[in-house]
This record gives sequence, C-alpha cells and structure tokens, in this order.
Amino acid sequence: MNAAEFLPDVQAVLEERNEPSYRMRQIYRALTGSLVRDWEEATNLPRGLQAALSEGAPAAALTLERVSLATDGTRKYLFYTSDGHAIETVMIPEKARRTVCISTQVGCAMGCTFCATGLLGIKRNLKAREIAEQVFVCARDIAPERVSNVVVMGMGEPMLNYDATLGALRVLNDPDGFGLAARHIAVSTSGLVEKIRRFADEPEQFHLAISLHTPFEDERRGIMPVAAHHTIPELMDAARYFVARTRRKLFFEYTLLAGVNDQPRHVEALAELLDHPLYHLNLLRFNWTDTGFSATSKADARRFLEYARELGLSATLRPSRGQDIDAACGQLAAKDLRGRPAIPMA
Ligand code: SF4
Repeated sequence: MNAAEFLPDVQAVLEERNEPSYRMRQIYRALTGSLVRDWEEATNLPRGLQAALSEGAPAAALTLERVSLATDGTRKYLFYTSDGHAIETVMIPEKARRTVCISTQVGCAMGCTFCATGLLGIKRNLKAREIAEQVFVCARDIAPERVSNVVVMGMGEPMLNYDATLGALRVLNDPDGFGLAARHIAVSTSGLVEKIRRFADEPEQFHLAISLHTPFEDERRGIMPVAAHHTIPELMDAARYFVARTRRKLFFEYTLLAGVNDQPRHVEALAELLDHPLYHLNLLRFNWTDTGFSATSKADARRFLEYARELGLSATLRPSRGQDIDAACGQLAAKDLRGRPAIPMA
C-alpha cells in the first residue's frame, strides 16, 4: 500500500490543487512519523494547503472520545469513526514493553461465544488508515515512551479485513513511516486456514497467533462457530505450512474457561496436537464478560500450565491486564458513554 492508497482523501486534495508530488511524502511523514493530529502542526506545509487539507482530508480520521486508565497502568482508548462507530484500543505497559492492541473491524462476525465483541455482530471493516491511526494516537499519548509492540487482537477478525490490515501493518513497519520492526507486530486469527497460508507467504516477518481454545473438534464448534468451516486437522495443516514457510514461532491462544476446556484431558490432547518445536501455547484466564462463562481459578490455571510443560509443551500463562476498565482480552465491546454497545445487539 503506497502513501496515496493509504491516504486517498489527501491524494484527492493534492490532485485538485495540482500540488507537486513531494507533498504526499511530506504529509505521509507528518502523519506516520511526527504523528500530527491537526494540519497546523505540519509546519512544513504552506498555510493554504493546511487549510485545504483541513477542509477535505482531516489529519485525524478517528475522534478520540475517552481514555480510561486501569490500576495496573493499562490504558483503554474509545474512538469514534467519522461515520459514528465506536471502536476500542488498549495499551498495555509491561516492564520495558509498551504493547498496543488494535481493532480491525467495528464488531466481529465470528461470534466466539465467550467474547464480548462477538456478541456485537459486525458493522463494517476499518480502513487501513483507521487501523494504523489507533497506534499513532497511543504513541502520541505515551510519549516520550515509545510503542514497542503492536498486537492485532482487538475487535474483529483481521483476516476478514486482510488487505486493510496488511496495509496498516506495512505503514507501521515502514522505516519511512512509523518504523516498528515486523517482529514486534503480531496478528491473531480465529483460524481462517486460507488466510493463514496467504499470511505465511507475505514477505514481512510479522508474527501469527491462532486462537485454538480447545483441542477437541466438538467443543471447538461449541465455542467458536468458525470451527464449523475449518476442522482442527485443516487448521493444523495450515499451521504446519506457516512454520515450514517462515521458520517463525507460531503462537496458539488458549483462553481457560472453567469446566469447559481446563481439564487434564485437554492438556494431554494439546501435547499431541502441538507437536512442533516452533509451536508455543499461550494460556490466558478468561476475563469476565456477560456470556455465561467463568474463569478457571489461578491455582487450576497454574496446574494446567505445569502439566502442559511436564508433557513437553512450550507454554506460558499470560497475566490479565486492565480488567477493572474492561480492557482485557475478550472484553472489548466499545460501549458508548451511556454504557450501551455502540452496535445494536444482533
Ligand atoms: S474472540 Fe476474536 S474472532 Fe472471536 S468473536 Fe471475539 S474478536 Fe471475534
């Protein structure tokens, strides 16, 4: 995605004014490197052009409505798109890392039964600019600290908005743009096998995480409707293709749901399924959402982790962050200021 494709409204203004071609480069750098949110901040642009851009192509595609701060330092950003949809972004501080978790769709069509976003249904795909801008706003907000990692694990299934997501990630990775190394960027998918193969063929070294959540077919269909379209063997074929092609570590996300997928038999089946030295199991305790599930206790989650390691799995248990502001994994519902979801429930 080149600068004109990333900023089509800016390109239209420049063409209408017959501006020299180097202006697009200046503007692209102002947005993605200097992180301007108002054209008056782009002081290398003539005033007339600043005014024309403000009129026809505002520097901020998203309006930042609210920033919530959790006791553990996690920050949640509520944005509105120009057509009035609410989306959320989370910044998680952890030792030297500042990880930003971004959204790629307004809502999500995948309908995972334990996820607040899944309850919303889907309204529309975000544009590449709207996806990348979430990171720009966080970076501006936490400066002089720097965003060290981006994970595409917020609202939406990124593989159903593939081109815009990849376009945004390339801008974030572009040394002439935001300049974040590809290996510091990770995309998470609920398991769309054709897209996993396509992603494996991309030249950049982006990381991939696959949401597995249970090693058993029938259980997976129960909690992840996507499993009706792609069986676990099909998913594991795509996983093997990814590691064979990229030689990169592949992450499997696993949300522990009490009494659903947290038994010893699950660990034993996982040990057989994740039989590759580049596979890594990321365990996460369920964060409360109004979906009828409850969290595995901390002690049981530790036992699950220890048994997984005993059986030879490479595994970690991720701490939950930002729970007191509903910013943890699976909790993003983009409630508007009256506490109602911004998208009517399907
Ligand atoms: S877990 Fe991810 S893919 Fe599933 S409904 Fe939630 S946002 Fe969509």
